[in-house]
Amino acid sequence: MAGDRLERYRQLRDFERTSEPAGATTTDGEPAPSGRFVVQEHHATSLHWDLRLEHDGALASWAVPKGIPPDPRQDHLAVRTEDHPLEYLDFAGDIPEGSYGSGRMSIWDRGTYDCRKWDEREVLVTFHGQRVSGRYALFRTKDRNWMIHRMDPPADPERQPMPRGLRPMQPVPGPLPTDEQGWAFQPAWGGLRVLAACQGGRVELTDAGGAEVTGAFPEVRALGEALGTTEVILDGELVVAGPDGRPDAERLARRRAARSPAVTRRLSSATPAVLLVGDLVWLEGRPFAPLPYRERRARLEELGLGGPSWQVNPDHPGEGSALLTATRAQGLPAILAKRLDSPYLPGETSPHWVVVAV
Ligand code: MN
Repeated sequence: MAGDRLERYRQLRDFERTSEPAGATTTDGEPAPSGRFVVQEHHATSLHWDLRLEHDGALASWAVPKGIPPDPRQDHLAVRTEDHPLEYLDFAGDIPEGSYGSGRMSIWDRGTYDCRKWDEREVLVTFHGQRVSGRYALFRTKDRNWMIHRMDPPADPERQPMPRGLRPMQPVPGPLPTDEQGWAFQPAWGGLRVLAACQGGRVELTDAGGAEVTGAFPEVRALGEALGTTEVILDGELVVAGPDGRPDAERLARRRAARSPAVTRRLSSATPAVLLVGDLVWLEGRPFAPLPYRERRARLEELGLGGPSWQVNPDHPGEGSALLTATRAQGLPAILAKRLDSPYLPGETSPHWVVVAV
């Protein structure tokens, strides 16, 4: 029976090329033990999570673009895909370029589940995994489209839904603070200050005017993929380097103004932007904005961010004069001073954020 159910799965793959399991070709008629599940994070053309439930000797599968919802108030789309062989419970690896589903696949969670209902239109389960546990409903809406809904309260009762539409805080121009010990100092790059809201592997960049600028900076989307299911809002500056390696405001403006996808693609490879992350506003269902800068910064550094198009902007507590001198020598425009005990105020200016011209 499992053999027949895997026909579609095998048609889509060339097992000479991919290391994915082909699945047993015969079954001995014994019902397989049921009740295991796996969630695989799949960096295919579009990042998604594959939920697979052991059922009738194979793995019933859904591709979930935003991952398993942690909160009953957020249902996620789950697209039914072909049944997979049981051996896929343990599969992790690279599916080669040019093959069906090419991209890196890793195990995000696995465990067992209890089935409370299973028919063509609705599946009710209780997961017992490391990351996902509790009661969930999968229900079919149209054709291959299903939704997945958490039926229990949020696994983390203090978890709050991520706020939408926040704007970055804006520094005010001013002199170097005299009590340097109470402040932290970062290079200011004269770039485009944005908030990067990352959720379900997607990034949304919002500028100080509230405009969404994600489309103009496609290279920063890889940040979302790197974060996976981590939910975070980061403050940062988008910077484009000129031929001399210094921030180039004109190139940045051209990037931002590009309207056609072809121009955006060309410019993003010719003059790539880097997001220099300087602050943490939200993390995993918790607001960080009200916390003092020193605490936000410590947590930001623990995230270990760093990739081709994003870096953490270096921070120099108590060393304003020294940083100003070094910055001047490098030909950079300014430094940003943040009071160590001050909160982050989205969309506002504050005397606790001062941009000091070099
Ligand atoms: Mn997949």
